Amino acid sequence: MTSLVLKAARVIGADEPDARWVEISDGVITRVGSGRAPADATDLGDALLAPGFIDIQINGIGTVDFSHTDADGYASADALLLSHGVTTFVPTLISAPMESFAPALEVLSSAGAFGVHLEGPFLGGAPGAHNREHLRETDVEWMRGLLERFAGLIRIVTLAPEADPDARLTRVLSDAGVVVSLGHSTCSYEDALAYAGHGAVAVTHLFNGMSPLHHREPGLLGAALDDDRLTPSLIADLVHVHPAALRLAAARKRNVVLVSDAIGIDASWARSRGVREVDGAPRLEDGTLAGSVLTMERAVRNCVEIGIDIDRAIEMATTIPAEVLGLNDRGRIGVGCRADLIALGASDLTVAAVWVAGERRDVPLGPPRVEPDA
Ligand code: ZN
Repeated sequence: MTSLVLKAARVIGADEPDARWVEISDGVITRVGSGRAPADATDLGDALLAPGFIDIQINGIGTVDFSHTDADGYASADALLLSHGVTTFVPTLISAPMESFAPALEVLSSAGAFGVHLEGPFLGGAPGAHNREHLRETDVEWMRGLLERFAGLIRIVTLAPEADPDARLTRVLSDAGVVVSLGHSTCSYEDALAYAGHGAVAVTHLFNGMSPLHHREPGLLGAALDDDRLTPSLIADLVHVHPAALRLAAARKRNVVLVSDAIGIDASWARSRGVREVDGAPRLEDGTLAGSVLTMERAVRNCVEIGIDIDRAIEMATTIPAEVLGLNDRGRIGVGCRADLIALGASDLTVAAVWVAGERRDVPLGPPRVEPDA
């Protein structure tokens, strides 16, 4: 049995208040303490210890696009994400021809992906950068086929109520334990609540790909903030959403999640569609935002820079995404959880060290970092 104790200036995301040290045995957290650490503890100095980041919407990173990758590409993306403190991520496939999904899922399944997020092709009135040619009404039999063939792999589906008018797919997915996230939609407030009643539990990238908040027609945005059944996600690159809107959402309700919605800006998919980084985010030639070049590490820092409390920022990047996915074994620092941990520099909040199931990963020796402001 391998055992390790980590001692830090602060432990964030712990069940125990004022926690200062964490004991790990065989990859699992076995004790969390607030008093004096055991003598053999590894002292992380003034670093903050937090759960590893969980990104539930990520299309790619660097040269990798999860829709068109292979085992090597996946492994390099995994290593790059790890260097940014992401210990669990859900590769996201955007709207594409129906026949292209199974081969992409095959690659991700073989590569050991934790899960997959299908963002489309069943989208509605606000498709954003999704190619309109690929959008369509829901096809329950097609989805059932994928759920059977790739058991347990599809964890999140973003769909629009207007593409699932009888809510049949929403109910099928919800019954199968798949997270239904409403998004890329101009549906009404009333429709959004009705779909929450049918089993939708999340809203994809709040403020983006939906009608703006109108005081007489609050729409999907209003429903996402008003109804506690729905957990909205936010892209905190400070381009997709104004800092004031981020603060309002983060303050309105507990269950708000940070996502990167990152794309592989240097992947051939992005190049072939003419996606270029302009003013801090990838855009199509007409200026439409096409995902982000954000990392979860940067998203947390951005939140802190605009005045959101560090504990709250980390909760939105760890505990709450774990809850959305229905995972009890990660996203917080508690006895019995996987020891997926990160050490953050106290002053700059950059990832200094990463442990996956208690095993230290050598972050500085990883691939070169991709940072939007580099
Ligand atoms: Zn989107």
